[in-house]
Parts: sequence; structure tokens; C-alpha cells
Amino acid sequence: MFDEDDLRPLSALQHLVFCERQCALIHIEQVWVENRFTAEGRLLHERVDHDKGESRGDLRIARGLPLRSLRLGLVGKADVVEFHRVEGDGPGVTLDDASGRWQPYPVEYKRGKPKIHRADEVQLCAQALCLEEMLQFSPLNPPRGTLQPAIHEGALYYGQKRRRQVVPFDQELRTLTENAARRFHELLAAGKTPVAVREPKCEQCSLLHVCLPDAPHASARSYLADLLGKSSPRPPEKSSPRPPPFSKEGKKEEEGEQDEDARRRREVPFPPLKKGGQGGFPEGGQGGFLP
Ligand code: SF4
Repeated sequence: MFDEDDLRPLSALQHLVFCERQCALIHIEQVWVENRFTAEGRLLHERVDHDKGESRGDLRIARGLPLRSLRLGLVGKADVVEFHRVEGDGPGVTLDDASGRWQPYPVEYKRGKPKIHRADEVQLCAQALCLEEMLQFSPLNPPRGTLQPAIHEGALYYGQKRRRQVVPFDQELRTLTENAARRFHELLAAGKTPVAVREPKCEQCSLLHVCLPDAPHASARSYLADLLGKSSPRPPEKSSPRPPPFSKEGKKEEEGEQDEDARRRREVPFPPLKKGGQGGFPEGGQGGFLP
């Protein structure tokens, strides 16, 4: 179990799954490059955050819900968590402002389109694992004796396609997410940025012109130090065809999609635990987050 002070941004898992070097550049070296796509993603999330919650029949919608997991050492915020009314005796939680039991269903907004890698799915699954821990039911401690995970699926909403992609939280994705969280903390503890390995995915990376995977530098920091003459004073290569660091030239349409929630690195601190361990939810349920 992690202490509150050791919690780290949940959104980093998408960076880690995409590329460990990118994750280290952002979360160890504090490198970030804002571009049109990251700005659009940030604005999209801000709009979602500022929208009010809703109540529609058998559906309750909470927005900007704080999340955290002491088990995984993560803290963050969910764009949207829907609560679907549970029929019969299925697993669910109680809400302050509604009778019956309700199934949490996280929804994450992305500005781009579905990816071939699983970074977005891992980020969404991490939200579900946080919710399960906060709500104190999980596959390890299933409610009412059922072996079903408490939160069995969520959805990714892609702005470019304007449609939802349902994401089942199966054991494979849960294991992938838990391993990513563990690896993220190992990476931070080591404090060392992995060496770049040029791969096809680099063309979709928003840090391509900072990382410089074709250059013989171990880190962006060492590259900048080199450039400023703090280590090996080397004259700038006037004829180099390589774009300068932080250049916005040569960006492709896809780049920045896996970074679109840069604002999550400014995530809000989690509210203090309430007595009974409800992880910030009001006693008796989480309806306090609903307007
Ligand atoms: S350019 Fe390639 S190696 Fe560098 S951070 Fe991006 S994906 Fe990783």
C-alpha cells in the first residue's frame, strides 16, 4: 500500500504503455510540448469537467470525479462516471439521492480515434480499479458472493469518430494495468530515462522532436545541456537537417493523441478519507459527487 504522499498521476499509465521513454521524459524530466492536438484535447477535457452532472431515468452521470488507489499508488480524475441502475440482485452501490443499486461505468473522452495500442484502455481500466477500491468492492472481495468483477466494463469516447468504444475490464486488461502501475513506480524510483529506440510509433509521438530517437543522446536533459555547452561544448550544426528541439514543424494529424490529457498532470488532490474508508465518498454512497 502507498501513502497519500506517494500517489502519482493515473494518466501516466497511458504514456508508459505507449513508450517508457516518453513516460520518463514527461514524469521524470518534466518535458512537455504543447501543440494544436494536445491543446484541443485539453479543451475537450475542460469542457467535460465543467459540464454539470445529469440525472436521466435509470442513469446518473458524475463528471470530474476524483479517483485514487492506495494499492496501485495512483491519483487522478475521471471525465465521466455513469451510474446505471442495477436490475435484480447484481453488484452495485447505493446513491444518496436515489433508491436501489447502481453500477459504476467510467467513460473517458479522447479527441482522436481508436489506437492499435492499449494505452487508452489501460488508463480507463486504472480508473475502474480506483473506483472499485474506493467503493470497496473488487474481484478479490466480490459483493454478494458473486465472482463477477464489480465494474465489468467502461467506454472510450473518440471525438474524431464521435462514437463510443466499449472496453471490457477482463483479467488480461486488469493484469496489464496493474503491471503498468508497478512499472511506472519502478521507473520513477530509478529516476533514469530509458534510451530511445526508434520505432514506427515514434512518428505519432508528440515528443519526437524533443526525444530525438535518431540522435546519440540518452535524455532530453543531456541533449539540452550539451546544446547549451554545460557538458561537451559543441558548436551547433548549422547544416543539420534535423529540426530544433521544441519545433512544431512536421507534426502529423495523429500526434499528441496519446498525450491529450496533459492537464491530468495538474490533477486535483484527492479529498481526505472519510471514516469508514469510503475514499472520499460520503458515507452511504457517492451521491455527494452528483450535483
Ligand atoms: S520519439 Fe519514440 S522513443 Fe522517443 S519518446 Fe516518442 S515513442 Fe518514445
